[in-house]
Amino acid sequence: MCWPHYLKSRTKPLDAFFADTVALCPELAARLRDAERVSEVDATGNYSYSSSVSSGARYLMLGDAYAFIDPVFSSGVYLAMQSAFAGVEVVEATLDRPAAAPAARRRFDALMKRGPREFSWFIFRVTNPTMREFFMHPGNPFRVKEALVSLLAGDIYGKTPIWPSIFAIKALYYMVSIGNFGRTFRAWQRRRVNIRDVEVPAS
Ligand SMILES: Cc1cc2nc3c(=O)[nH]c(=O)nc-3n(C[C@H](O)[C@H](O)[C@H](O)COP(=O)(O)OP(=O)(O)OC[C@H]3O[C@@H](n4cnc5c(N)ncnc54)[C@H](O)[C@@H]3O)c2cc1C
Repeated sequence: MCWPHYLKSRTKPLDAFFADTVALCPELAARLRDAERVSEVDATGNYSYSSSVSSGARYLMLGDAYAFIDPVFSSGVYLAMQSAFAGVEVVEATLDRPAAAPAARRRFDALMKRGPREFSWFIFRVTNPTMREFFMHPGNPFRVKEALVSLLAGDIYGKTPIWPSIFAIKALYYMVSIGNFGRTFRAWQRRRVNIRDVEVPAS
């Protein structure tokens, strides 16, 4: 994965660009030295998405059918399984207790929206200097480390004690960001440049 502006800098065919990019990281190049490519090199733009509806009269949108968020956070399989558990309740209500079906669908919809929302807050900020500083910080105020690991493992449904710590991370994040206003502003500007829409040239 890389910033769109880096892809835009490409002046040669995709496979050569890919090889040049691997070469930028000597450790990776060393590991791939004897590797054999098994397909053409492909490029794709931002592939995160979420649907505006999670269910209809005769369908449910589970897992990736509903949303896909950054694979770096490794939440996809858990979210997919969780949506299947939640979907069962809608199916059961629809078949056995039709009067309860609309409420079951509303609960399902709220649950489907929640996962991507909780993860997205961190995904949008993970490259921010404030967040990087937090990750490198040796301390563990409000047990934020355990809470963050729990959240990244997808443990956000049902009873979990993480929410006060997650609230603390967010409050600290905003306080530290405001306290370092110049750095925050420069990071915001840099991110705007990095994520601006660019056309990736065809290979
Ligand atoms: C590069 C990458 C890395 C990832 N890394 C991680 C990770 O580290 N950890 C993590 O948790 N998640 C990761 N994910 C996300 C994770 O793989 C998905 O979120 C998860 O597999 C979604 O499960 P799903 O059941 O919704 O969809 P899928 O796993 O895509 O299952 C859908 C299935 O339906 C089949 N199908 C499609 N159309 C039809 C049809 N018409 N008839 C019959 N069958 C059909 C497909 O062949 C497929 O087998 C990653 C994704 C990508 C792309």
